Amino acid sequence: MNKDTFRKELHRFADWIADYYENVEGYPVKSKVQPGEILSELNRGNCFEHVGMDTLLADFERILLPGITHWQSPNFYAYFPANTSPPSILAEMLTAALAQQCMIWETSPAAAELEEYVMMQLRDMIGLPETFTGVIQDSASTATLTALLMARERATGYGINDRGFAGERFRLYCSEEAHSSVEKGVKIAGFGKDNLVKVPVDGNFAMLPDELEIRIHNDVQAGFVPLAVVSAMGTTGSTAFDPIRAIGKVASKYGLFHHVDGAMAGTALILPEMRHLADGVELVDSFVFNPHKWMFTNFDCSAFYVKDPDELIRTFSITPEYLKTKRDEEVNNYRDWGIPLGRRFRALKLWFVIRGYGREGLQAMIREHLRLAGLFAEKLNSRKDFQLLAPVAINTVCFRYVPLNYGGDLNELNARLLERLNSSGKLYLTHTKLRDQYTLRLVVGQTNTAERHINEAFDFIVRQAEELCGKES
Ligand SMILES: *Cc1c(COP(=O)(O)O)cnc(C)c1O
Repeated sequence: MNKDTFRKELHRFADWIADYYENVEGYPVKSKVQPGEILSELNRGNCFEHVGMDTLLADFERILLPGITHWQSPNFYAYFPANTSPPSILAEMLTAALAQQCMIWETSPAAAELEEYVMMQLRDMIGLPETFTGVIQDSASTATLTALLMARERATGYGINDRGFAGERFRLYCSEEAHSSVEKGVKIAGFGKDNLVKVPVDGNFAMLPDELEIRIHNDVQAGFVPLAVVSAMGTTGSTAFDPIRAIGKVASKYGLFHHVDGAMAGTALILPEMRHLADGVELVDSFVFNPHKWMFTNFDCSAFYVKDPDELIRTFSITPEYLKTKRDEEVNNYRDWGIPLGRRFRALKLWFVIRGYGREGLQAMIREHLRLAGLFAEKLNSRKDFQLLAPVAINTVCFRYVPLNYGGDLNELNARLLERLNSSGKLYLTHTKLRDQYTLRLVVGQTNTAERHINEAFDFIVRQAEELCGKES
């Protein structure tokens, strides 16, 4: 592609992006394709034949767009958000253009120093004390694995890195509601998932610290070595908050490494009035949250904070001759702060987002999401045939339809309601199970979700639920 064509295409793609955002509400939020449909369409073409941008863009629209689930639709309420924003998208365009490889300071001094700077600013913005140092990871899953590896190496004098496991019988703890990434990390780090102890939760789905202590105590009696506990600051099922301070007391009594997974809810900490959710976080060893979930920053960007960066670096550093530089003592070589050697320039979009909105702008957007989630919950509460199934601590509303005098299976009814809602294309919700009850989850977190969308979503859900039951009787 010559430079004039490249310039022309850049403008065309910029227009495509602007048009997409203007029309995003017109697409079915959840893709309607069946498994294999996209692949068989792709198989009809000849991938090795050169084509121009006209053809590529046309094929993208014809073949792939129908298979896109529109995470950036304001009617996206599924899972947890993975939102974005104009400043983030613009920064990602620059990131793509510069195509940096940010493994060490020398390979991109700006990336290394911006990352150091922006992680300090973000730390201050969420109210973490200055005793924490941050690094950007690709995902919360990676950050949690990284924390577990730090715990492993700290407890063994960095021995397992050298000699492998020598029969240590470690035990790790999280709540029954903790994210699956904890179990995945435990498996990858070599502990064995049978050594992950799932601690019971209270009526609000938060870990019971007394139950944690009982299990640690029993494990010690049985000859195990309790190693680490992961607190959930906002579980994925219902956004429950483990009591970090009380868990921290148990952790320090038994010498456990304490990691906090605040993947989505961490963003709420930019609001001073929400900091109580992380009470005790100053005592923990590490903390992760994802600006790529709820903080308007393109996937991937996960903010990982540690008390002692030396422990982190000692766990991961390997310096072959070809990566040694004269400045290694003076700078951050982020290759040593996590698993991969190569790293994307992720700090740029975070810097753009924070400055593009300002602290108060971000706070206003998060407050509005919290208000809208509260509004939706209130509307549900005003009806006798809907039931909230968990507290609405932040932006997740867990509920189900309970038609009056219904004799059938409520789990099955709500599963059918969800299917009906999602196949309409008008909105997208997902489900979980809480106390064996099939639970619909509505999470308010897309950048452009406004009161109008919430009102429409509520009315639509009620109408579909009523029609579903009307059909049966
Ligand atoms: C989403 C989520 C994760 C995983 O996040 P990734 O960045 O996709 O790895 C971990 N923990 C919780 C509580 C989550 O909600």
